[in-house]
Amino acid sequence: MPLIEKIEIYHVARPMLKSYKTSFGTERIAEAVFAKIYSEAGYGWGESSPFGQPYFSSESAAGAFLVLKKFLCPLLLGKDVISGRQLQQHLRAVKGNYFAKAALDIAWWDMYARRLDRPLWQVIGGKQRPIKTGVAFGIMETVDALLDSISGALDAGFERVKLKFSPAWAVDVIKKVRHKFPDAIFHIDCNSAFTLGDAHIFKELDQYNLAMIEQPLQHDDLLDHAELQKQICTPICLDESIVSPDKARKAVHLGVFKWVNIKPGRVGGLTEALEINRICQQGGIQCWVGGMLESSLGRHLCACLASLDNMQGYPSDITASSRYYNPDISKPPFELVGPSTAALSEQPGIGAEPDQQLLEKFSVQKETITCETIN
Ligand code: MG
Repeated sequence: MPLIEKIEIYHVARPMLKSYKTSFGTERIAEAVFAKIYSEAGYGWGESSPFGQPYFSSESAAGAFLVLKKFLCPLLLGKDVISGRQLQQHLRAVKGNYFAKAALDIAWWDMYARRLDRPLWQVIGGKQRPIKTGVAFGIMETVDALLDSISGALDAGFERVKLKFSPAWAVDVIKKVRHKFPDAIFHIDCNSAFTLGDAHIFKELDQYNLAMIEQPLQHDDLLDHAELQKQICTPICLDESIVSPDKARKAVHLGVFKWVNIKPGRVGGLTEALEINRICQQGGIQCWVGGMLESSLGRHLCACLASLDNMQGYPSDITASSRYYNPDISKPPFELVGPSTAALSEQPGIGAEPDQQLLEKFSVQKETITCETIN
């Protein structure tokens, strides 16, 4: 691949159609960073959505923008990058900052696949197949509002429903949900709101036949999760804790986990997502793809990842972009093509890119960095 000559970065904040409440806060404005990298071979786009505040992880969109501008883009400019692994090697002096790295990593993969004139899912070894998607509901004003939303989702054909779960929206809610929908597939996502001292809550949940419990304990923990898994029957799914292939290797080593939710942004990009999936597959852990309120660009990327073999055991969190945004900042929209089903793009690259006008409209900061500006 020719040298990387120029990188544009954008910090965007766009309003959501409705707020989304989790155990750590309520999102009304979704913040993200976008990166566009240029070489003689063309260009590629990456989106990474760490949220506006460092509540899901230690990163925020404003922080990711700063790290991209000051540290990561200068490490990449003028380099001849021939693989995602080599790109990660160039960035490795910067510790952590996974969401920031992801924007560049994903943009490189988009450029690479565009240059090959092939869809990205094909380039990474995915298969052309229906992408199974589930639906997720945040914490609501009332349980009745949640029950109505679930009814609508099941009527629309969604095969599984994820419910956000917090100390204030806990077992009693699940009891009512299970009573009304005895056969539906549910799992809960705790976003690291509990400690091992809350094990009794999860033991009580065993009776409600949940498909899994996502990230109940601290955001960077593995050992307490392994201990909790020994005490309960419902499988634990790791999300926030798996930020790198090294963390995935350690999770496999503990030998008790069955599920990992992979988000390309959380792990530093597609290169590391592929490696984590490979490690999990070899270690007997199934994966599915999570979401970070991305635009259609990020959703198309998630669908590429969800086309891999080890991703077929459970529907991913990749719903239509129109569920959250109007207008969406990227085009074409990511849409469902049937009940609980999305389709892979046949376009070269990821299959979507930002609309320049909307990107400018919703940008709170932007920067163009070239070899000249860093020297
Ligand atoms: Mg989660």
